[in-house]
Amino acid sequence: MKVTFLGGAGEYGRSCFLLQGEDISLLIDCGVMKNAKTVETKYPLLNEQIAKNVDAVFITHSHEDHSAAIPYLYELGYRGKIFTTEPTRKQIKKVFTLWRETEDQTGQELPYSKQSEKLVQFEKLDLCCKNQWIPLMGKETIHFMYGCSGHTLGSVWFFFRFNGKYVFFSGDYSMESSLLSFEKPNIEERVDLAILDGAYGSELNDQDSYIIRLREMVMEANEKGEKVLFHGPVVGKMQELLFSLFMSLQESVVMTFTVSEDILLALEDYERNQACLKKENYQWFKEKVVPKLWVSNVEEWLQDGELGIGFFLENEIVGYSHWKHSSPLKIITTGPLNDNIRKLVCENDHLQYEKYRFKVHPGVEETKHMLRFLTPKQTVFTHGPTNLALELKEALTLDEESTKIVEVSETVG
Ligand SMILES: [Zn+2]
Ligand SMILES: [Zn+2]
Repeated sequence: MKVTFLGGAGEYGRSCFLLQGEDISLLIDCGVMKNAKTVETKYPLLNEQIAKNVDAVFITHSHEDHSAAIPYLYELGYRGKIFTTEPTRKQIKKVFTLWRETEDQTGQELPYSKQSEKLVQFEKLDLCCKNQWIPLMGKETIHFMYGCSGHTLGSVWFFFRFNGKYVFFSGDYSMESSLLSFEKPNIEERVDLAILDGAYGSELNDQDSYIIRLREMVMEANEKGEKVLFHGPVVGKMQELLFSLFMSLQESVVMTFTVSEDILLALEDYERNQACLKKENYQWFKEKVVPKLWVSNVEEWLQDGELGIGFFLENEIVGYSHWKHSSPLKIITTGPLNDNIRKLVCENDHLQYEKYRFKVHPGVEETKHMLRFLTPKQTVFTHGPTNLALELKEALTLDEESTKIVEVSETVG
């Protein structure tokens, strides 16, 4: 049993891991690296031979760095299935379209045709069957298991059991989400190899400290008479931010919360997939927060005299053309800065653009917990440059033997 890192190790983006056993070959995640310039660096290190030999593909969640290269895999000749949860499947369809359109519009080379997207076949992983061993494709020697990873709606971690050996793929995970549940991987045996999300390196702060910072920023803007606009992906972070800010501001200051229609609609998917949610918090969110949300678009929200917080999508911000006439405003992202929004802010002195941390990946404490659950014989930290993996290894005082520092194209196991 061995794992080859086709992307996403020693770098951030294009997560793609090839897991090979005696008579089986699996791929876990198949993403792209957003800002890379060439096909060789933007897509995982796949070729026809790998694509044709893979028996099944497992996708942890919909984010483009984990899913957008799936059509490329089919272009190269893969004809098997994509195992993932229903919310992830639904979100991935949109990721494919958005990726293709953006690459087209910016004149980037797309190494697959639109036809390849149509070849993609999904196999639903029912959230009712999580946390139990399932034989893979009828083979009694290979089993897999999945559980909620708390990163975004529908995100899961995976366990594989090959002839008594255990491999764990965390995907992106967070133990600190307010709405999404994180399920402890529940096995008795020691894990042979754990591939873990190391995106934040030796991050020590917890989510609460970041929520306090956000709250202070919002209150300060409010005192100055400025609105605050958050942007982020339509599912996951936006709902999480709504929950946390509403919770932390509710007693001190009355503020309106405005969301775009798409962000409100995404809540229907939360309602349909409650198996991934923290029940009590979700109930509170539904009863206390959702009824108080205003639904609007960027233009109307800007013209509204009332101060408050707006939650909109990147394309809604970029698509609005009268920024020149808006009142002073803070635009906040908790993810990567968007180049188009940056440009817009450069052209308009009254706009500010800032990045704040809001955790959706584990820090040192969560990684400690994870290692305690898994007691892995070997660990690889992924999802970031080598220096982050080294920092995390040092912060946890892990030794050379148990922690492998891996670069793209290397094999472990
Ligand atoms: Zn992610
Ligand atoms: Zn990721």
